[in-house]
Amino acid sequence: MKLCNIGHTFDYEMEKLIRLFLPFEKIEVLHTECGDDNCVVCKLLQQDDDVIAYAKLTLEGNSVDSQSKIDKAITDTRKESQHELGRQLFFCFEKLMGYRPDWGILTGVRPAKLFSRYCNQYGNDYAENFFKTKFLVNESKLDLCKMSVKGEEEIVSLSSDNSFSLYISIPFCPSRCSYCSFVSHSIEKAHDIIPQYVELLCREIEATAVIAKNLNLKLETVYMGGGTPTTLSAQQLNRVLGAIRQNFDMSTVREFTVEAGRPDTIDYDKLLVLKQNGVSRISINPQTMNDSVLQCIGRKHTASDTVVAFKLAREMGFNNINMDLIAGLPSDTFESFKNTLNEILKLDPESVTVHALSMKRASTLNTNGQHEQIKLESEAAKMVEFSRDALQSSEILPYYMYRQSKTVGNLENVGYAKKGFEGLYNVYIMDETHTILACGASAVTKLKDNTQKNIKRIFNYKYPYEYISGFKEIMSRKTEIGEFYDKHFK
Ligand code: SF4
Repeated sequence: MKLCNIGHTFDYEMEKLIRLFLPFEKIEVLHTECGDDNCVVCKLLQQDDDVIAYAKLTLEGNSVDSQSKIDKAITDTRKESQHELGRQLFFCFEKLMGYRPDWGILTGVRPAKLFSRYCNQYGNDYAENFFKTKFLVNESKLDLCKMSVKGEEEIVSLSSDNSFSLYISIPFCPSRCSYCSFVSHSIEKAHDIIPQYVELLCREIEATAVIAKNLNLKLETVYMGGGTPTTLSAQQLNRVLGAIRQNFDMSTVREFTVEAGRPDTIDYDKLLVLKQNGVSRISINPQTMNDSVLQCIGRKHTASDTVVAFKLAREMGFNNINMDLIAGLPSDTFESFKNTLNEILKLDPESVTVHALSMKRASTLNTNGQHEQIKLESEAAKMVEFSRDALQSSEILPYYMYRQSKTVGNLENVGYAKKGFEGLYNVYIMDETHTILACGASAVTKLKDNTQKNIKRIFNYKYPYEYISGFKEIMSRKTEIGEFYDKHFK
């Protein structure tokens, strides 16, 4: 598709808007009109004293257009011009494709944070009105924003200036899911390097703990994620968890999460190791309770494996279990998703995270036509809405939310929890509340300066074999942590 931008420089923003409706379209940006059969024209025109935002969409020869005057009352005219052009383009797509994304023209990853900023700056009424009329966000999503802001603010207020969280990366999985966009390696491929990875990871944990201690930092939460950490053997898990416990001051920790992830990696010995090492929260992630969908996405477990793993964890005393689901999986239907959610509710987890499928690697969606795609997007939107209603009626309420680029239907990921069981780390990482010290391959340390809102990132190498070969360099980068704190906190 050609994108003809005239009289403005919003190439990136208009391209992003087109991707709300056509996520995989190849877009060529021009700065003149082309008259192509598949094209978008976005123009800012001067008419007497007014500036007009004009958009025209042509898809396979069918055209619609829409235009509006730029509101002169708004002082940030550049932003308003961009938004007005975006709205006109949105209306064109809505007319021609018969589909209206729930988040309107809002494309950012942290809508709740933006909403909270608008509330603080301009008041709640203004923020609500702006979201509805300028960003075209629907009532339901606005409501979700409000609930998430409330949940997040309570958790953020518990953090102090010297707080930090620890993230440990275990980038291995039993097999690779077809939709996965992480760097995780399947166990077959990585089997031989795991022992060396574990040893180096423990050395990095030890060195990080020394730094945290010297800086007098207070550990709030620990999160071991991946990948699937329980891909490690019970002994390897014990080694890593032991390294955390022995080296960090755990007396201030309010949450210790391990993503047990795939049910086929969970057994009695591993759960015992987690329990003995003080893990307080685990995540068992079925994604769906439909066996044929599981097969379709390349998972090697069944829905009943999830039930068995969950019940075992309960019997062993885990009283804070999260379950992850995905809306919009290939071959899933609304009825099957409803069934998934009902099965999950029967297990009575403390929290449920509902993700919208990221289409980055969902090749089936990539190759389907526009019509199929819209059907899938509407179906996923229905799933997301249903999950919210069902969870809220069970007193499992939204407490944090974020969005990823290229999710089906431009939908959001939402964490729901019973009161008192919210995942603290999830909020801290998303809100960028405090420093996250991170260890392992693909881990990113984020240093937060509360006074100036600075965030410095230190990247570890992405892949396990790079982590092993570049370990010396990773360790030398750790000195930047002390330098940051010296600069910003003294
Ligand atoms: S379990 Fe998660 S990290 Fe592992 S392959 Fe599947 S989607 Fe990727």
